Amino acid sequence: MTNIILLGPPGSGKGTQAKLLAERIRVPHISTGDILRAAKETELGDRASEYMNRGELVPDSILIAMIEDRLAKPDCASGCILDGYPRTIPQADALNRILSGLDLRIDLVINIDVPDDRLITRLSARRVCECGATYQLTFNPPQAKGVCDLCGGALYQRDDDTEESVQNRLLVYKRETQPLIDYYENLGLLTTIDGSGSIKEISGEIYEHVQ
Ligand code: ADP
Ligand code: ADP
Ligand code: ZN
Repeated sequence: MTNIILLGPPGSGKGTQAKLLAERIRVPHISTGDILRAAKETELGDRASEYMNRGELVPDSILIAMIEDRLAKPDCASGCILDGYPRTIPQADALNRILSGLDLRIDLVINIDVPDDRLITRLSARRVCECGATYQLTFNPPQAKGVCDLCGGALYQRDDDTEESVQNRLLVYKRETQPLIDYYENLGLLTTIDGSGSIKEISGEIYEHVQ
C-alpha cells in the first residue's frame, strides 16, 4: 500500500510525473484539478471555474469534501498518488483525519522544485487534451501539431494558463501551499527533488525514492 503526495508549484510537472508513476506502480492518480475541470457544466464546476480562471484556490470546504469522497472509493485501498492536493494547511490536516479514519496513512511526500522563470515558460506553452494528456510545445511536443498522440483529439490551452492567471497562481502557491514543505518535513515525510531536468530523468529519480 502506497500513498504518495506530489507537491510543487504550478508547472513543476506534478501531473506529468503523477501519471507516469501511477502507471508504473498501478495505483490511481488523483488530480483535484482534473476532477474540478471534469465537473464543468455542473453547479460545482461553475462555482469552481470562477476561482480557477483567476488563478485563485477553490475553497477548502469544497476540496475537502471532494477528496474525502474520492479516497473512500475501493480503488484507493491499494494506495494512490495525490496530485494537486493538499494545497493548504487545513487541507493537509483534513487529509490526515480522513486517512486515519480509513486506517491509511501518507507514506511519502515528493516536493518537485523548479525555479519560477522555468515554470512560466512551461505553463505558457502547455497544451492539453480532453483525454488527460499534457504536452509542452518545446520540451514535450505532440507528434502532429495540435493533435493528441494518444487519442487524436484537438489540443487546447487551459483557461488558467494565461500570463495573468499564472502570475497569480505562483503568488498563491507561495502564500498558501509552500508552507506545506515545512509541514511535511516536520512529519519526516518529505523528499525534495530537482524538477528542472528532463521528464525521463525526473521520473527515474522519483521511482528510486518510491522503491
Ligand atoms: P503541474 O501539474 O505541476 O502544473 P504539468 O505536469 O502539467 O505540471 O507540467 C507543466 C508543463 O510543463 C506541461 O506542458 C508539461 O508537458 C511540461 N513539463 C512537465 N515536466 C517537464 C520537464 N521535466 N521538462 C520540461 N517540461 C516539462
Ligand atoms: P496546476 O497543474 O497548474 O497546478 P491544477 O490542475 O492542479 O493546476 O489546478 C488547477 C486549479 O484548480 C488551481 O489553480 C485551483 O484553482 C484549483 N485547485 C486544484 N486543486 C486544488 C486544491 N487542492 N485546493 C484548491 N484549489 C484547487
Ligand atoms: Zn488525447
